[in-house]
Amino acid sequence: MKKEKQSLLEKDEKYLWHAMKKYNPEGTMISTSADGVWITDIDGNKYLDGQAGLWCVNVGYGREELADAAAKQLKEMPYYPLTQSHLPGIHLSEKLNEWLDDEYVIFYSNSGSEANETAFKIARQYYQQTNQPNKYKFLSRYRSYHGSSFATLAAGGQNQRAFRYEPLSPGFVHVSPPDCYRSPFSNENGECCIQAADEIDRTITWEISDTVAGVIMEPIITGGGILVPHDNYMKRVREICDKHGVLLISDEVINGFGRTGKPFGFMHYDVKPDIITMAKGLTSAYMPLAATAVKREIYEAFTSNDDYNHFRHVNTFGGSPAACAVAIKNLEIMEKEDLVKNSEELGTWLYEELQELKDHPNVGDIRGGKGLLAGIELVKDKRTKEPIEESRAAKVVARCKEKGVIIGKTSDTVAGYNNIITMSPPLSITKEELHFLVTTLKESI
Ligand code: PMP
Repeated sequence: MKKEKQSLLEKDEKYLWHAMKKYNPEGTMISTSADGVWITDIDGNKYLDGQAGLWCVNVGYGREELADAAAKQLKEMPYYPLTQSHLPGIHLSEKLNEWLDDEYVIFYSNSGSEANETAFKIARQYYQQTNQPNKYKFLSRYRSYHGSSFATLAAGGQNQRAFRYEPLSPGFVHVSPPDCYRSPFSNENGECCIQAADEIDRTITWEISDTVAGVIMEPIITGGGILVPHDNYMKRVREICDKHGVLLISDEVINGFGRTGKPFGFMHYDVKPDIITMAKGLTSAYMPLAATAVKREIYEAFTSNDDYNHFRHVNTFGGSPAACAVAIKNLEIMEKEDLVKNSEELGTWLYEELQELKDHPNVGDIRGGKGLLAGIELVKDKRTKEPIEESRAAKVVARCKEKGVIIGKTSDTVAGYNNIITMSPPLSITKEELHFLVTTLKESI
């Protein structure tokens, strides 16, 4: 095995360009199998995947029903484009409406980036077709991530990711995130979040509301360091959007499908977004599939039959029948096993367990409490909140891995938040497995 591994690593280094990884051929893990929350590498080491891949394997690994659903559909009818229709596409769209608990029309694509890019195009065209042609700008928050394409990178507020790829798409404006730990305003009654929302209000006014098409936000910022806002925040953003006639786009690429302990993140906050984007947990990453769900009123602006007013946007693979079939089965598994509730209950337990770290001199903030999603901000000094060195945060991640647990860490070095440990295990995790994750993390910290 040793020799074979060496040869594979050599080929890997020669031919395969890894996503996001700094050059580090020796550090590459070659995974060979996976089951439940466990992933096995080529040496036979087993790890509890506390990040569910890239925050996406919601039902866990090794689900034969999902493989069977794909195989069945691939045999029956592997492909036909959604310029027309097919059965899995219709059934999935109906099911998503049940999950969304309202009426949305669904446009399919292949990745979270595409789902957001599609949302931007729909929003701009919608305003063109409803006699407000100057509305083209989008507001988003620093520290957010919305994808890797030129427009979604422009929307994202992690500028280190944009560096060396600029100029990006114009028309994106950034405001402060609801970061209660570092906000100069008090967390009492969510004052810090009211201030963050009011910045959106002011910015739309300053930009001239007639030029603003939308605000895009994850209800809970995930990759930017698990920023759980006060319950007042998203509702206030909704009110601000209504006041200015601006669409609210909820990026549910990670928040969606039970990650936050509700079917979708926005459901915590008593709001209805105009557009909802989703990917990842939609198929638990067994197949690439993404969706942009649009309120029927918006869709109606696209139904005239002339040459320009329909949505002239297509992607070859979006909503492929097998991916839709897998998504349907994936949602059925979540329903049958009550995984959203599992996420809610175990997420609450996880958050309570993590409180034991509260008095640790390097633990500045513990964030979570909504579903199986948690973050720990490591600092050098609790009083000054100076972030801990990246190497020390990375050591916690490495120590966990040595002990058999994979967790994540934020990576924005330039803006200075590479110090936050993140967790988002499969929603199918058991309490015993979660206990192993927490205990290992505590020991490693
Ligand atoms: N939005 C959010 C909130 C994400 O976390 C991601 C991916 N991590 C995306 C969009 C982009 O998704 P994809 O990588 O599938 O393009």
